[in-house]
Amino acid sequence: MSRTDGIVATYKMESTSSRDQTEMAESFDFVVIGAGAAGCVLANRLTASGRHSVLLLEAGGEDSSPWIHIPLGYGKHFTNPAVNWLYQSEPQAGAANRRIGQPRGKVLGGSTSINVLLYIRGQHEYYDRWRDLGNAGWGYADVLPYFRKSEDQQRGTDEYHGTGGPLSVSDPPERHPLADAYLAAAEECGYRRNPDFNGAVQEGFGYNQWTIRRGLRSSAATGYLRPARRRANLRVVTRAHATRIVFSGKRATGVDYLRNGVPASATARVEVLVAGGSFNSPQLLQLSGVGPASISQRFGIGVVADLPGVGTNLQDHYAARLVYECTLPTLNDVVGSFPKSVAAALRFAFQRKGFLTMGQSYATGFIRADPAAATPDIQTSISLYSSHSPGDSLHRFSGFTLVARLLRPESRGSVALRSADPLEPPVIAPNYLTSEKDCAVMLAGLKATRRLVESAAMRPHVKREHDPGPACRSDDDLMDYVRMRGGIAYHPVGTCKMGGDAAAVVDERLRVRGLAGLRVVDASIMPTLVSGNTYAPTVMIAEKGADMILEDSAAAS
Ligand SMILES: Cc1cc2nc3c(=O)[nH]c(=O)nc-3n(C[C@H](O)[C@H](O)[C@H](O)COP(=O)(O)OP(=O)(O)OC[C@H]3O[C@@H](n4cnc5c(N)ncnc54)[C@H](O)[C@@H]3O)c2cc1C
Repeated sequence: MSRTDGIVATYKMESTSSRDQTEMAESFDFVVIGAGAAGCVLANRLTASGRHSVLLLEAGGEDSSPWIHIPLGYGKHFTNPAVNWLYQSEPQAGAANRRIGQPRGKVLGGSTSINVLLYIRGQHEYYDRWRDLGNAGWGYADVLPYFRKSEDQQRGTDEYHGTGGPLSVSDPPERHPLADAYLAAAEECGYRRNPDFNGAVQEGFGYNQWTIRRGLRSSAATGYLRPARRRANLRVVTRAHATRIVFSGKRATGVDYLRNGVPASATARVEVLVAGGSFNSPQLLQLSGVGPASISQRFGIGVVADLPGVGTNLQDHYAARLVYECTLPTLNDVVGSFPKSVAAALRFAFQRKGFLTMGQSYATGFIRADPAAATPDIQTSISLYSSHSPGDSLHRFSGFTLVARLLRPESRGSVALRSADPLEPPVIAPNYLTSEKDCAVMLAGLKATRRLVESAAMRPHVKREHDPGPACRSDDDLMDYVRMRGGIAYHPVGTCKMGGDAAAVVDERLRVRGLAGLRVVDASIMPTLVSGNTYAPTVMIAEKGADMILEDSAAAS
């Protein structure tokens, strides 16, 4: 039977099975689990030729809330169970025994529908490091074409940037005096200006670019999935929570899932593609008997493949915030005033400008807090609002926030089953700040960030430091503050890492080691965390993954 015949047969079967889902498993060439950054790319690229049928399962719902598409809406989603898995870490010894909130998108677009919109790919050197760790084809020169392919860069095309791709990248529609002062402060402190963190070098300070198209969020769902949904060979099922990958021997043959709580299943004739993100992908593998045998055995799950690395190697960017009361109006003033909120809404509606079009941070700097570092080890940034913690109500005073993020953490954590119940959140144990080097770089980065505010350029705009406050000066006090009040940049990666060593879960073609018909394609495959943000790199991984999947399936048929 040809592939096209297969698609027709599939669709005949689907219409039967939609009448009686429990009796017959639907059959597709590919079943993709998770419609986030990676899953939306796969759904688009694998259906483009019309030769393959794809089922895309998403545990969350449609991205119909307008607050997903209005950029500033991210502020509403940090704690919104309608679109967010709302995970929590285990108490973290390195963070004053607090549980750290782990928002993850649970909606079409996944985390790209709730993220804070920064477009920063990371340093070239660390893609070369992926290659040097044994992952042929993943050096910077290899991955750059996929970044360019995915991109629709407002500034136009050049050696590093592309246009016409599904992921829109744009400049803030207007400058802001506080961001200008921050950049002037950086120059005063001896740092270079850099108009493009995604160009030849990352180091330096400049305005951010955001994943926004004409004033609206450019998520993976709007960029990649929406145009593909018109294709007859793509079926998207929302409220479909994958509970187990089905195997025949060592070959993955399908997926069991709950559709609105009702059991269903689907068969994959070619491959099952796991794209649930860095917490859910290892959880699903472990639920399916793919992971450390000790975990499977503890929960009475039959071992399909003993892969000790599944769920290990968890990394994220730890972040510390400094909050200032200032003399210029910020978003705090708008949110606290009805007339100003109406004016902001009208500006957004008619001009696509103003605070509603704003990503979380306006300007950023990449610095070497450790002078011995070969490349930047801290990302610092300015946000034009302030609150006690992300997602809380904004302060009543005019305020801004400076953030210092640890770019290349050494601390490593893990994700493991809490129980055999697929609906129960996994145990997330990131082990933040358990490496001495991480603590030293974090502290140096926070101090360097604080120095910016002491500059002539910033001083006139600052009334006082609110957090941690002027009394907090010694290294010990600052480090206590970092542990007690720090958070994360929401970039978990590495839990199904790519590589050739014993802890690797997938090979350089993203195939799960020791099994057939199964790949993991999402942020979890990163061997090490990129020194930037993770949306663009995950899209790149899925663009490259889609090419490899199509090549391998063409070679096999
Ligand atoms: C609050 C926040 C802010 C962020 N800010 C930025 C930023 O400014 N810039 C940036 O570059 N990155 C940012 N990120 C990170 C970026 O969005 C993610 O790295 C990226 O989306 C990861 O892609 P992914 O495909 O691995 O996972 P996700 O995009 O999280 O997608 C996974 C999808 O799989 C679904 N799923 C999971 N398990 C199952 C299952 N069992 N069955 C069916 N479906 C399932 C989920 O519901 C989800 O839709 C942020 C993330 C968050 C949460």
